[in-house]
Amino acid sequence: MTKRQSRCADSTITVNLDAIVANWRFLDSLSAPSTKTAAMVKANGYGLGSGAVATALAAAGCPLFFVASLGEAIELRRHFNKIGINDISIMVLHGAQIGQEDALTAHQLVPVLNDLEQISRWQLFANKTGMTLPALLHFDTGMTRLGLDVDQADWLIQNRGALDGLGIAYVMSHLVSGELADDPVNARQLASFNELRSWFAGVPASLANSAGCLLGTDYHFQMTRPGIALYGVHPLETRIPNLQSVFDWQARILQIRMAAAGDRVGYGGTFELQRQSRIATIGVGYADGYRRQLGGKATVSIGGNTAPVIGRISMDSITVDVTDLDQNSLRAEYASLIHDAYPIEAMAADLGTISYEIMATLGQRADWHYQGGSF
Ligand SMILES: *Cc1c(COP(=O)(O)O)cnc(C)c1O
Repeated sequence: MTKRQSRCADSTITVNLDAIVANWRFLDSLSAPSTKTAAMVKANGYGLGSGAVATALAAAGCPLFFVASLGEAIELRRHFNKIGINDISIMVLHGAQIGQEDALTAHQLVPVLNDLEQISRWQLFANKTGMTLPALLHFDTGMTRLGLDVDQADWLIQNRGALDGLGIAYVMSHLVSGELADDPVNARQLASFNELRSWFAGVPASLANSAGCLLGTDYHFQMTRPGIALYGVHPLETRIPNLQSVFDWQARILQIRMAAAGDRVGYGGTFELQRQSRIATIGVGYADGYRRQLGGKATVSIGGNTAPVIGRISMDSITVDVTDLDQNSLRAEYASLIHDAYPIEAMAADLGTISYEIMATLGQRADWHYQGGSF
């Protein structure tokens, strides 16, 4: 949940909660006033601390939160209870698994029902308890991952009684390639979803993740579900000027040393210096989520100047060529690991991954700071 500040750490991650709120407001402004903008805080708020993120967003007026698992949902509910925030819907993407029914109702959680078995389980429980139980219905329109497939959807449309006792708050689906604005798959999914929706007249609908929020109002329906864009990552190829960057990852400069031409740097001696050089050793490594594949690719920013990461990434440190930095910059105590000249999207490209994966595995060992929000 909210990451604790550990002190004494060599790397720090500062999360700007006001920027997260500003990004949520921006995404919210893209859709009609009647469209609600939920917040995706699964995987501990994309690694940034779901408690802090959710508190800030709830205080800003966000009433709907999504997480992946029941465990995440219970943790979030307890957090909201503890700080006295009520009237928040928490929706569980993985739905009602066997044996989870009591916990879901006890914590007032709303499962996203992904197949007929989950629907019947939730309905049985509604009958047993005599309560009308809330749920979302998830239809698979092309992802082949979670959600009712075409046959199950057809069956449900013919057998509406399967939903008796359930309060279906939304029907939803999920975009396969939303981040590729021109991909024809988007329009195909939109058409399938609109057709499905027509069978559930009067039930609100939801299709858009962050990328979907940017695809236009056709994709918004009654609720959008952005995640990554809240955290300042640009979901489409084109950068969106209104999205603010949300977190700052810095690490302590442990030592600056001179080295001769011909000296080799780091494990395996893979990097040979071509000139007399000044090398800064920085206290972050693969144990902090600074991935090993970044050696020889990444840059850091020190005192506003860019310096290349050379040699292999160690568990606890990296080595940076600071030969070209001026004396003033060399007095800096910290290096920024993600910076204007090396944004998270560039780091993700160098790693052959996406920003989501970098964020979700960020600094277990870092000193976490939160700015703004209601703290
Ligand atoms: C993770 C997720 C989202 C949010 O996706 P982003 O790309 O982070 O905006 C929305 N809907 C579902 C079903 C998801 O699993």
